[in-house]
Amino acid sequence: MALILHADMDAFYASVEQRENPALAGLPVVVGGDGKRGVVAAASYEARKFGVRSAMPSSQAKRLCPDLVFLPGRMKLYAEISAKVREIFYRYTPVVEPLSLDEAYLDVAGSLRLFGPVEKIAQAIRHDVREELQLPVSVGGGAGKLVAKIASKKAKPDGICIVPDSQTLDFLRPLPVSEIWGVGRVTERKLHGLGIATIGQLADHDVVVLERALGTWGPLLHSLANGEDLRTVECDRGRKSYGEENTFGEDATDRETIEATVIAHAETVASRLRHDGVEARTVTLKYRPSGPNAQFTLVTRSKTLTRPTNDGALIAATAMRLWDAEPEGIALRLLGVQVTGLDGERPVQLGLFQAEQEDPRADRLNSALDEIVAKFGPKAVKRGRT
Ligand SMILES: [Mg+2]
Repeated sequence: MALILHADMDAFYASVEQRENPALAGLPVVVGGDGKRGVVAAASYEARKFGVRSAMPSSQAKRLCPDLVFLPGRMKLYAEISAKVREIFYRYTPVVEPLSLDEAYLDVAGSLRLFGPVEKIAQAIRHDVREELQLPVSVGGGAGKLVAKIASKKAKPDGICIVPDSQTLDFLRPLPVSEIWGVGRVTERKLHGLGIATIGQLADHDVVVLERALGTWGPLLHSLANGEDLRTVECDRGRKSYGEENTFGEDATDRETIEATVIAHAETVASRLRHDGVEARTVTLKYRPSGPNAQFTLVTRSKTLTRPTNDGALIAATAMRLWDAEPEGIALRLLGVQVTGLDGERPVQLGLFQAEQEDPRADRLNSALDEIVAKFGPKAVKRGRT
């Protein structure tokens, strides 16, 4: 039985901006920096008609759609709305795993007795989000995470797609292998080299051959392609880490780009820590160097601080120290900042000792930073090197 839902807000940041300013309704709108290094963070469906996509360089987006409206973005507003969306999810199940501000997995196995079949729960969620927040959300459902996530994409925009258990394989088999989360260009090329273009062909392939070509990833992909997806929905409440990462459109080599990206990630992570009232002790920098084996090489470097923190500047500085200890001249495909060692299952107490130890200016700066969009490139992260 289909028990996992994947709910995904449609063009989230752009939809929020169109809701906030009705004059933008029906216009091609993107949230993102329009500077030289700007990147599209979200594109309205009107913009997508021109081929504009998120993660695309803004210069390219402008060429595709000269009338494109650029908006700087309001991370704090998006985070507030995201929290409200999550509250709606929690009405229907306690088992919610947010993937980002605008999407989450929900395990509704325990909710059927109370709320009825999966279709009904998906409709109810969409109805509540639409009624209370005036925003569209698409919901996919299936026996596992893979199916649910692909189904929500099929449901877009503003729709529902539930794949019954008995149809899981029929649903998956005709799809291109790139639909499997984590199959990037490198893996795709290797699979194509083996004559595998669809998930069905992957499912039928010899698992030994797959392992030889792809390592441990091979058998895993083979199981997923056969509809065997045992990954469970991990509740946010027992959360062990917070992280942000990005894949570069073009390999990043210069320190300036890398530092700007690290600062943006660190500020976003810190803002989420503050939002959830927790602090983290260990900072991890992770990166994927570019090159033929990029898919399989993920480097992680960690440092544990003497005291837990929710300060983006400290997290960024720690991550940059880790980066500067790496050999020179590495070109990056992917870069991420993660924090673990969370302190604050309970909300952080603002006790006397802490108030004395913390620099009040850092606190003020942090709340101000929550209001800017650390995510949208160097233009939005002027805080820079301190
Ligand atoms: Mg979305």
